Amino acid sequence: MIKKPFFCLSSPSFAYELVNDASVPPRTINAPQNVTLFVKSAYTQKDALALCIGQCVKTGQKLTLFNNSDAYVISSVTGEIASIEPYSGNFGQAYTAITIKTEAVEEHDDAFATSTQPTLESAQAYLADIPGCPPLASLADPERPIHTIAILGGDNDLLVTTNQYAIMADTDAVAAGIQFLKEMTGIDNIIIVVPRELVQGFGHTGAELAAVDTVYPSLNPKMVMKNVLDSEVPAGQTCEDAGVCFFSAEAVASIGKAFKDSRIPLTKTITLITKDEKTILVKARIGAPFSDIFKACEIEINANDRMIVGGPLTGTAVYSENHPVRADTDAIMVQDKADVSLASDYPCINCGECVRICPAQIQVHMLVRLLENGMYQEAVEEYDLNSCINCGLCSLVCASKIPIFQYIRLGQYELAELEMMEADND
Ligand code: SF4
Ligand code: SF4
Repeated sequence: MIKKPFFCLSSPSFAYELVNDASVPPRTINAPQNVTLFVKSAYTQKDALALCIGQCVKTGQKLTLFNNSDAYVISSVTGEIASIEPYSGNFGQAYTAITIKTEAVEEHDDAFATSTQPTLESAQAYLADIPGCPPLASLADPERPIHTIAILGGDNDLLVTTNQYAIMADTDAVAAGIQFLKEMTGIDNIIIVVPRELVQGFGHTGAELAAVDTVYPSLNPKMVMKNVLDSEVPAGQTCEDAGVCFFSAEAVASIGKAFKDSRIPLTKTITLITKDEKTILVKARIGAPFSDIFKACEIEINANDRMIVGGPLTGTAVYSENHPVRADTDAIMVQDKADVSLASDYPCINCGECVRICPAQIQVHMLVRLLENGMYQEAVEEYDLNSCINCGLCSLVCASKIPIFQYIRLGQYELAELEMMEADND
């Protein structure tokens, strides 16, 4: 785990990892024997299923889950559907998991190539789940018109270099993606945000360039809004509410490749963070099990080791080596059981470290008291829960190892659910 001071007079700071040499390609993981793809829809209407077990699918084929809904995934392999099951994600979010047994001979579906022009509608119909997960729906929301697209040429966690690699190694695809985005949306105001050290080489992309320093969390969208775009997002609002839509560099490169090559990209770049905090960039099919990556990189997972999807500050633990790579899996981190810092039941000792480090200037030590007791509404009203930018720094520095960030995420999730229920009842 990231080494941290116990107490210090000034706030500690943590720097992003920088890619030294983008000419070294990521390690390619062999085609998987099975893939599991998650559809963002609950498996509730079995009678209305548009797919069936035993059905043959091609690489790049759009798999629509229900006859009466738009929820889909793109098959990342050629093979046969082996199972369709409900899956419960973080905080019980409902998905449907489709497992496909891969055939040795790959066939590509040509529906995307033959039927699509580069329009926002076609992108929404085929490209919502490509590597980097472009937030296309945000571009099409008439309630929140977007005037600026910001492309993050870096990653929003420590040790993770997936999007830095994308902007450096796939610059031409990013440039093509920018051109398509301009044509599809009519938005000309596109800005690439990169760490200051990487500022060379993007002149031909058709986007403006902005540099941020390498101190975490300078690449957090709300920090970019404040420090680069001079537009502070009010508490409880999103960057989209302020007219700015954030894309990862990999998502823009994926759009560029999809329309340029008339083929949907299905291979995800991932930063693998090993037990000794070394990083390895790998490329794996969306849906491939983590175990394929561990095997290829000779990483042994023992009992009580921890696997985390995402980086060390904002990642989420998963409990099976069969967990699949998803279109937004930018990093996988493995911790040896000896390094796993367990959440404690020590009380807050009022050391103030969380308050000193919080970039949103929240009274975190007071906020956590309410969150621990499930007092979410009070947490919003009294201690500004909605100003949190989800950086995870408070948990990292907490002397009592209180899982502050997990409490924050749970609180935000519960409040969002409540809001949705109220909106449904109106
Ligand atoms: S995660 Fe913690 S440190 Fe980061 S903004 Fe939220 S409360 Fe502050
Ligand atoms: S929550 Fe943790 S970091 Fe914050 S004051 Fe209490 S012990 Fe210190």
